[in-house]
Amino acid sequence: MTYQNYSLKQLQQIDASHHLHPFTDHRELREAGSRIITRAEGPYIYDSEGHEILDGMAGLWCVNVGYGRDELAEAAYKQMKELPYYNSFFKCSTPTPVLLAKRLAELAPKGVNQVFFGSSGSEANDTALRLVRHYWALEGKPEKNRIISRKNAYHGSTVAGTSLGGMEPMHKQLGGAVPNIVHVMMPYSYELALPGESDHEFGLRAAKAIEDAILEAGPENVAAFIGEPIMGAGGVKIPPMSYWPEVQRICRKYDVLLMLDEVITGYGRTGEWFAAQSFGIEPDTITTAKALTSGYQPLSALLVGDRIASTLIEKGGEFYHGYTYSGHPVACAVALANLDIIEREGLVERVKTDTGPYFAQALRERIADHRLVGEVRSFGLMGAIEIVKDKATRERFEGDGRAAVVVRDHAIANGLMLRATGDTMILSPPLIWTRDTIDLACERIVKALDLAE
Ligand code: PLP
Repeated sequence: MTYQNYSLKQLQQIDASHHLHPFTDHRELREAGSRIITRAEGPYIYDSEGHEILDGMAGLWCVNVGYGRDELAEAAYKQMKELPYYNSFFKCSTPTPVLLAKRLAELAPKGVNQVFFGSSGSEANDTALRLVRHYWALEGKPEKNRIISRKNAYHGSTVAGTSLGGMEPMHKQLGGAVPNIVHVMMPYSYELALPGESDHEFGLRAAKAIEDAILEAGPENVAAFIGEPIMGAGGVKIPPMSYWPEVQRICRKYDVLLMLDEVITGYGRTGEWFAAQSFGIEPDTITTAKALTSGYQPLSALLVGDRIASTLIEKGGEFYHGYTYSGHPVACAVALANLDIIEREGLVERVKTDTGPYFAQALRERIADHRLVGEVRSFGLMGAIEIVKDKATRERFEGDGRAAVVVRDHAIANGLMLRATGDTMILSPPLIWTRDTIDLACERIVKALDLAE
């Protein structure tokens, strides 16, 4: 039986009775009922009532090549017929993860040549945490195991992901985090810069917070620093350009590994294959997922730098870690076809030279002046709009982000899906958006802001 046999009401009732959603207040959901998305094409999603909605979030930061790509469905179908599953355990392998690992090593920043596959970004960060601590133990320094992260970071929802992340409400429900992880300030100048402090100076000060944490623990006790190049779920917090090179300098000075979480920023969103390239840094690990398959299959890839990989391989013996679906042949086949599309259509270059700059200009010229907007910011095709009560003083509305939720709901009702987190409206569209799509999105944002006034 297919879903078409059910009415919208019936689907909503079954949903409320049996389906626990991620990050959801179920009592609220029960009252309102879910919006049931039934199909999608290009940059649009369609709900069960036939509304066409421009998807300003690429699903959940992942559908970079847009919807309805036959090529990806065909890659999955072909692989499922030929070999739907076999694992990479016990000295076996299958062709698609092998070829995908090679392809990723070619795209990755210098010195990153090994890949460990999982099914989600959370799993990949779990793996990364285990791997860096294992690395230092293999190097004879097991006490060098503290991880420095940042407040408001998002690194996933597993116990390790939540522990690495810096989201207070998540920590409150955790009942005990993975030990020895500390969180320092985020590089968010709009709220944290001092009066008169330039962006450049602020970036250096935010990096210094990491140095202070290293010195407080003693460098001999610090394994790694982890960060999203641009904080995504925390509100598209874009650091000043001075931040990442300084973070890298500090990490190298104290022999602390640099772990980048590129689950959102990987595969073209910032106008390079990886944001590490946008910020000119060479990390020791890069966590990726989401746009690796444009969300058409669940797949993550932890890219591992030569320093860690050679110790793991030469001194490590067996690494007691892995998932049933590590290197899933179908997911990897889809990833290869997805990378083909990104490459063939020049999507990364397009973000860098055309849609990224146009998006930034559109936000600046058409949204920034609105009475409810405190700041707009973007990098590549990742953007944010800060909702404020008072532009001049930057005072926020009361009600813990309710104002942004109102704007979001007006936007959806007017045909644009975007996300509200705290007082921030977030945009992370598919990389197939054109200048015309950006224009259309801006029109709908202005309308939503006007309605929310
Ligand atoms: N890391 C970052 C930066 C993310 O944004 C996310 C998800 O949004 C994750 C990790 C977790 O990925 P997943 O939801 O696939 O477990």
